[in-house]
Amino acid sequence: MSEHKRVVIVGGVAGGASAAARARRLSEDAAIIIFERGRHVSFANCGLPYHIGGEIQQRDRLLVQTPQSLYARFRIDVRVRHEVVGVDRERREVVVRNLNSGEEFRQGYDSLILSPGAEPIIPPIPGADSDRVLTLRNMADMDAINRVLAEKKPTRAVVVGGGYIGLEMVEALCNRGLEVTLLEMADQVMGPADAEMVAPLHQELVLRGVDLRLGTSATEFMQNGDGTGPDVLSVRLSNGQTVSCGLVVMAVGVRPEIKIAKDAGLQIGRLGGIVVDDHMRTSDANIFAVGDAVEVKDFLSDAPSLVPLAGPANRQGRIAADNIFGRKSTYKKTQGTAICKVFNLGIGMTGMSEKALRRAGIAHEKVYVHPASHAGYYPGASPVSLKLLFDPADGRILGAQAVGADGIDKRIDVLATAIRARLSVFDLEDLELAYAPPYGSAKDVVNYAGFVAANALRGDVHLCHCENMLNPTADQELLDVRTDAEIAAGTIEHAVHVPVDQLRDRLGELSKEKEWLVFCQVGLRGYVACRILMQHGFKCRNLTGGYKTYLMSTRTTDQLTRPSKCMKQKENSDKMASQSNEISPQAGMVRRENLTQSQQLPHTKKSKEDADTRTASAPGVTRVVKEIDARGLQCPGPIQRLKQEIDALAPGEAISIVATDPGFVADIPAWCHATGNELVDIAPDGKGYRATIIKRGSDTAAQAAAGTCASPPVARKKGLTIVVFSNAFDRAVAAFIIANGAAAMGFEVTLFFTFWGLNVLRKDGPVRVKKTFIERMFGWMMPRGPEKLALSQMHMGGMGLAMIKGIMRNKNVTSLADSIKMAQDADVKLVACTMSMDLMGIKREEMIDGVEEGGVALYLDRAGEGNVNLFI
Ligand code: FAD
Repeated sequence: MSEHKRVVIVGGVAGGASAAARARRLSEDAAIIIFERGRHVSFANCGLPYHIGGEIQQRDRLLVQTPQSLYARFRIDVRVRHEVVGVDRERREVVVRNLNSGEEFRQGYDSLILSPGAEPIIPPIPGADSDRVLTLRNMADMDAINRVLAEKKPTRAVVVGGGYIGLEMVEALCNRGLEVTLLEMADQVMGPADAEMVAPLHQELVLRGVDLRLGTSATEFMQNGDGTGPDVLSVRLSNGQTVSCGLVVMAVGVRPEIKIAKDAGLQIGRLGGIVVDDHMRTSDANIFAVGDAVEVKDFLSDAPSLVPLAGPANRQGRIAADNIFGRKSTYKKTQGTAICKVFNLGIGMTGMSEKALRRAGIAHEKVYVHPASHAGYYPGASPVSLKLLFDPADGRILGAQAVGADGIDKRIDVLATAIRARLSVFDLEDLELAYAPPYGSAKDVVNYAGFVAANALRGDVHLCHCENMLNPTADQELLDVRTDAEIAAGTIEHAVHVPVDQLRDRLGELSKEKEWLVFCQVGLRGYVACRILMQHGFKCRNLTGGYKTYLMSTRTTDQLTRPSKCMKQKENSDKMASQSNEISPQAGMVRRENLTQSQQLPHTKKSKEDADTRTASAPGVTRVVKEIDARGLQCPGPIQRLKQEIDALAPGEAISIVATDPGFVADIPAWCHATGNELVDIAPDGKGYRATIIKRGSDTAAQAAAGTCASPPVARKKGLTIVVFSNAFDRAVAAFIIANGAAAMGFEVTLFFTFWGLNVLRKDGPVRVKKTFIERMFGWMMPRGPEKLALSQMHMGGMGLAMIKGIMRNKNVTSLADSIKMAQDADVKLVACTMSMDLMGIKREEMIDGVEEGGVALYLDRAGEGNVNLFI
């Protein structure tokens, strides 16, 4: 039946080339023609960012096939620079334009396969047509970006969009030595993943020096001067700021290329993709469509979906060819299995995310685990943070996401297969997976996730989540079962502390009337504690994934560890030290050039063993006397090792520690702050992170504790604290005017909002939160946010407020809402008093983003550090 069949294919890359090769393997007689608009076929679009970044050095390596090789091996007639501009369904012909000659001709077909892909979306932003604003889809786009980099030598770039292409481009441009700003309109990168699972990516980006701006978009691209210099563009942002750069990469998403399909009258779905059946056949029986241009069905929800990934495109191409040549293969829906590398970390996902399950109204439960990627005693292990979503009724697996430096692909692939096979969490307990120390553990991460989920379903332990920890009910109490050293690096407010090893002896301290929300670092000791409590008649729940997951869920971008801040302080002190021509040990400087070979901060040192580098200190120089290798240690291992080792140092001596757990990056500043030691530097180091810490004695501890990265005690910090008690419009305006002025003058400003003042920080719309009746009543009666505040005097039924706002406009006084934004941009800390929140029934979700929660201790700490303190 296949004799002399004419198969015409539109698009010669992933889907098109797969379809063509499969067609030839099924029929030696068919005439197979590919029309490809570009200059290349079957190139590795997925490899483009890696050539820009320099990992793939030879451009030609991206050309997986050429027209010549496809002809030699498969006798496929490939016509590059040929665009199909129309489909005549009646006559079964395509209209083709030769882009070299401009000539148009018709080509008949028996079967037509459309694989035209998806085009990058370019939002209608003024200036987006600049030749420095580029997208990345094909070899020509890659060459254009490389040309700008080589010829114009920009020093700064802006990437718009934090999806996988945007993230890969950020890394590529950083590798090329550019300073990169990443703009992402949402409050997280990698949109398909759940927010807490991308928190480590945010930390990684910031640690690599990327200027990460979440909740921010570009509104205009302006060219400065004659446009020939390296950094000729100014990008105006949605928050009113501008960023200068010499290259913008737009990566805000793609949309299916459906023009010819639509013009031909083929059915288009509601998401804008070509509608196909499970044989990849369109609404015309002779026309098939595959790849990024089609709408597929989601494997779990059956809902239509657009999943622009190479795996589905390749499989669909093969299935279309099968059906053309009489094989009834079917496409069995799409799971959205994907993976992306972001510097040290990988993030992978398969199946549905929690947000997608919620949107689809599908019942689900979740567990988090953070075990090592392989045996901790074998070099290179690092935690795999895995989230497993499953059906609470029968344990069927619904989705999984994993993030970490090693072993992500393996776990996601196993779970992708498990979802395909419709396995449950009970099946994961039984999976027999490959194990030797360099590759895994006898209980693999996937088995482990299965144990945790199955334990919960069997009722061995009840689970709770971060949401519960943030909003415990009146009869719930929090119980932290970790060690003192771990708690020094942070805990959840109001938690009672009983280390798990003391729990049996201290049960009398706990009430049986309460339900205990138990947590440890990653969930394991919490489980052990729950088993003890349950068997002694206590009600309790274990926080799945522990404090590590809590931090991933609650830490805002403002709270990320920023190396640049430390380095800046270091640079300043360097400058001052060189000006004064002496280096004071109290200044906390580790002068690399003054260290002997063995004492150099070992950013490239590969030794597994800890090294004792103690030698006599030259006067005036702080020496790194100990190097700790905490790679492979799970949290709290690195912090515990650090504590042991630093206890043995003399004040002023420095220690250098390298760990592979990304959680270490979040823990170390908090630990240093709490213990009064000084964090000099933290930076990526190979597959891990290296921190340098100076031991401070009790006399200097207070000084060192003054900041996350304590600066040398050269001058007292200028600090302003304002207690905002009132929610009167005029008082709030005054508070922000003073705060912004002070920030501009270099003060570190903290606004502490208490009682009525909390209303200034509320979002203006209603927010769905669980509240008691009284709390809800209170919420209705109080103003929601800056637009709803009233004047403290001359209210006059709202006229006074309207007049004041008018006068402010005429006199160019910034509106209250803009002042709040300005303050946040200027790093003014907005702290909501937790006690008042509790009293007034105001929940965290009701407040604008970027607000920290804190108690009196935090206020007094900040007020004590500063020198001006106001009450409004
Ligand atoms: P494409 O491969 O885009 O091919 C479509 C071709 O059709 C184009 O070359 C186009 O020129 C041609 N064409 C369109 N209209 C016409 C016409 N009228 N006439 C003639 N020719 C036409 N996916 C992953 O799974 N993993 C990754 O790591 C990954 N990384 C990526 C990185 C980048 C930078 C990009 C751009 C994509 C990446 N993808 C990745 C996505 C993956 O490349 C696509 O999902 C896949 O290529 C889609 O295949 P396709 O055949 O539908 O479209």
